[in-house]
Amino acid sequence: MSSPWGKIAAPEPVNFQEIMSEELARDLQEKENRKGMPAQSSEEEFNIPPEVLEEEESLRSDEKIARMLQQQYDKEYDDILKRSEEKFNGTSKVSISFSNYRRAPLNLDFDSESEPEELEDIRDKKDWDRFDTVIREFHSIPACGYKKDNGNMVTKHDVNMSGRKNACKMMSFPPEFETGDGAGFDMKISNEVFNSLKAHSKHEQSKKHKMHDKKEDQETAIFGIDAKTRIILYKLVNSELLDRVNGVISIGKESVVLHADTNPHYPECPLPKECAIKVFKTTLSEYKQRDKYIRDDYRFKDRFGRTTGKIATLKLVQLWAEKEMHNLKRLQKAGVLVQLWAEKEMHNLKRLQKAGVLCPEVIALKQHVLVMSFIGNQNKAAPKLKDAALDDVKIMMAYKQVLQYMKAMYKQCNLIHADFSEYNILWYHNNCYVIDVSQAVEPSHENAFYFLYRDCENISNFFSKRAVPNVITADQLFKDITGYDYSNKLALVELQEPVKMKPHLVDKPGVESTYNFDNAWERSRAGQLPDQCTSDIENLNLSGSVKA
Ligand code: ADP
Ligand code: MG
Repeated sequence: MSSPWGKIAAPEPVNFQEIMSEELARDLQEKENRKGMPAQSSEEEFNIPPEVLEEEESLRSDEKIARMLQQQYDKEYDDILKRSEEKFNGTSKVSISFSNYRRAPLNLDFDSESEPEELEDIRDKKDWDRFDTVIREFHSIPACGYKKDNGNMVTKHDVNMSGRKNACKMMSFPPEFETGDGAGFDMKISNEVFNSLKAHSKHEQSKKHKMHDKKEDQETAIFGIDAKTRIILYKLVNSELLDRVNGVISIGKESVVLHADTNPHYPECPLPKECAIKVFKTTLSEYKQRDKYIRDDYRFKDRFGRTTGKIATLKLVQLWAEKEMHNLKRLQKAGVLVQLWAEKEMHNLKRLQKAGVLCPEVIALKQHVLVMSFIGNQNKAAPKLKDAALDDVKIMMAYKQVLQYMKAMYKQCNLIHADFSEYNILWYHNNCYVIDVSQAVEPSHENAFYFLYRDCENISNFFSKRAVPNVITADQLFKDITGYDYSNKLALVELQEPVKMKPHLVDKPGVESTYNFDNAWERSRAGQLPDQCTSDIENLNLSGSVKA
């Protein structure tokens, strides 16, 4: 490839000796000339030819250019020196002068008369706005703290100067601090005003940061849709069970409920059009709360002991003092517990459904994510009983249904809701739907009767407040359900003893023998159980070893 610069013609070779001899000849000639020259050497007298004069002229202008360049160079050098001096001295009151190193004396004016004006103009144009000019003016005051301007002394503490300076400083407040068009007029801010504005700005900033941090924490910890959960949701979509996850229905202390559209063409079975996805949160505080509901549930006994027994024996103080590694391990284990929690809700919902208690239908369970039918229509969840606008007839209907459900839950499902109230009953198509049954326990649970009595109180209170006629008291409701007389809360423990002793062997009122766990287990091993009971056993035995 040819050179982009083109070819340079090689200079004609000249013999070095020739050069030398030429110079020698010129020297000799000059000496000869000088010998016959007059004492004074004026150009006119020698009658110099015009070409030579022109050449002389051009030489002079060359010299001028060279001088100008030199001046320019010196000026730049001195400017740099000045800047270094300023930088070195900063705002210090004791300053060191670099003037000895200047190339040109301080008073030397490099430029022509018109130039300073030009220079000033250019500088003005360079300023981005008024504030730049003010800052430059401020910096033009030497380190001694004052300068003379047209005979007047201007100090750094001049009211106007410091007012303008404060206005400039205000411009460096955070962008969300509204300053208005400060550059549009000669803005001056007194020190007092500036200080209070600065304090306000700082306060706003820290408030904003706090809010932001809080929001982020809420999003991650309370919202509960962490990376692991998102993967499960993606998988549910990928497995063609769900079409899309639409958004949040509710964010509670223990769970987040999402709304999703199911796949209408799901190959394995027909699905309801919409579904609710309950995501159980995995935070430690929740773990501690749930502990009491699940610990004494015999269905989870083995698994609970294996996963968290050791940790539960540690004192709370010790737990907090554990190092991060232990915390992580604990979180992992809490994760396992949360899965049990979701499983528990699934099995409890299935029991309710079998007993004819209206509730969401379980669609799928993946770890701590429970997919169930949506109680509501077109993305709009049915209202909670507390929010439903019910006339006298409907509230009466609701009351009757609720009483019936409580009995059915206890007698047929062998369950106590343990958080039964107008908050966990949805009103849909003129019917009550029971939700949120993850904490429901069997009557054998240590505090089962205490939970049941609390449920009775909630229900009686709610319907009394709604002026339903002939609402029975909590005591009466408790008796209707359990068959036991309620006297006081302390007596509840004693009342419960017969039910507690041998949880799943005791004949509880209304509990059919097919629900007897041990019985069913033995019979299933012998292959004697009908289909319905086998599925009951699946529901009851969660340790994993059962299915082997
Ligand atoms: P939490 O433990 O947070 O109380 P819930 O199971 O009570 O959880 O659900 C919280 C809210 O989510 C309910 O009050 C209800 O509004 C809504 N929700 C829960 N499950 C469903 C469902 N299957 N269909 C419609 N809305 C539901
Ligand atoms: Mg609830």
